Amino acid sequence: MTADIIPHTSTEAHQPCWQEELAAAIRTPADLLERLELNPAQLDASPVAQQAWSLRVPLPYVQRMNKGDIDDPLLKQVLPLGAEMLAAPGFSRDPLGEEDANPVPGVVHKYQGRALLIISPACAIHCRYCFRRHFPYEDNTLGRKEWQMALDYLASDKSISEVIYSGGDPLAANDNFLLWITQQIATIPHIKRLRIHTRLPLVIPSRIDPSCLHWMTATRLKVVMVWHINHPNEIDQAVSQAAQRLKRHGIELLNQTVLLKQVNDSVYTLAELSEKLFDVGIMPYYIHRLDKVSGAAHFEVSDNKIQQLQQALLNALPGYLVPRFVCEQAGALSKLPLPLSTEATAR
Ligand code: SF4
Repeated sequence: MTADIIPHTSTEAHQPCWQEELAAAIRTPADLLERLELNPAQLDASPVAQQAWSLRVPLPYVQRMNKGDIDDPLLKQVLPLGAEMLAAPGFSRDPLGEEDANPVPGVVHKYQGRALLIISPACAIHCRYCFRRHFPYEDNTLGRKEWQMALDYLASDKSISEVIYSGGDPLAANDNFLLWITQQIATIPHIKRLRIHTRLPLVIPSRIDPSCLHWMTATRLKVVMVWHINHPNEIDQAVSQAAQRLKRHGIELLNQTVLLKQVNDSVYTLAELSEKLFDVGIMPYYIHRLDKVSGAAHFEVSDNKIQQLQQALLNALPGYLVPRFVCEQAGALSKLPLPLSTEATAR
């Protein structure tokens, strides 16, 4: 059993299925900029950065970008720039030390009680700030024997009560595989919860189809989905409908956001994001300080500004809509809370 993306069979003549939308994703800056009616000379799109890690962005996500806007916050998240090729102090290929927390292929085990499975090396979208952009996926792409080793590892550690599906994007794997692996995990008595970290339902909402809902609900495990939404413009009606489908099937929905310079580093944007998330049934959960991965330094927001944003967001929203501001540190036993400022000036 492998997590390869399967060929599709569409049942709706006029509505592309998620596999078709994935296959049709835009893969070159030239194509993307042409669709957005932008002049490449206005942007620092870099062939070298594109070669190092290619652009990939599905059309349903592109359709939420503003045509003719070189500062579009969704465009900034996916366009390969020359700035990615500049070395920056403190930025590295493996900022969270995950390669040291990889006890068997396919498993990352950093925190007590939770273990993460690299379900799929593929993503539907390539986010330029991704902390796993240099992860050695080739060593973590498993066949049946290796998956059994991963399952044996989970079964051998009775302290693990929660399994996290990650990647890449776990929902890039096919549903037959996801059904199989979920059934295997459910046979391990000490595992109670399944957490799915994904960006696919955001960028291709049709991913939440009956086949996907089947394996998520045909299990004794309590299923939690953690979305990754960074900007209110990312949420449209199709995203809202995908969230509703999941809610109707009893899936808990949370969101984590990465704080990104010139994308979402304003209190207005973050407050609107929390409001919109709540409107579509997703609870704001975490705001992450950027992980210092090579190639992403131009997205970094200063610690001082993060403190101010946190305080300003507390002032602007009811407490239940304010996500926790956290960072990850290699070797730490949990995510770490970020300190608050007493000044509310980050507007
Ligand atoms: S793992 Fe998540 S953040 Fe990283 S590229 Fe894939 S979808 Fe984007």
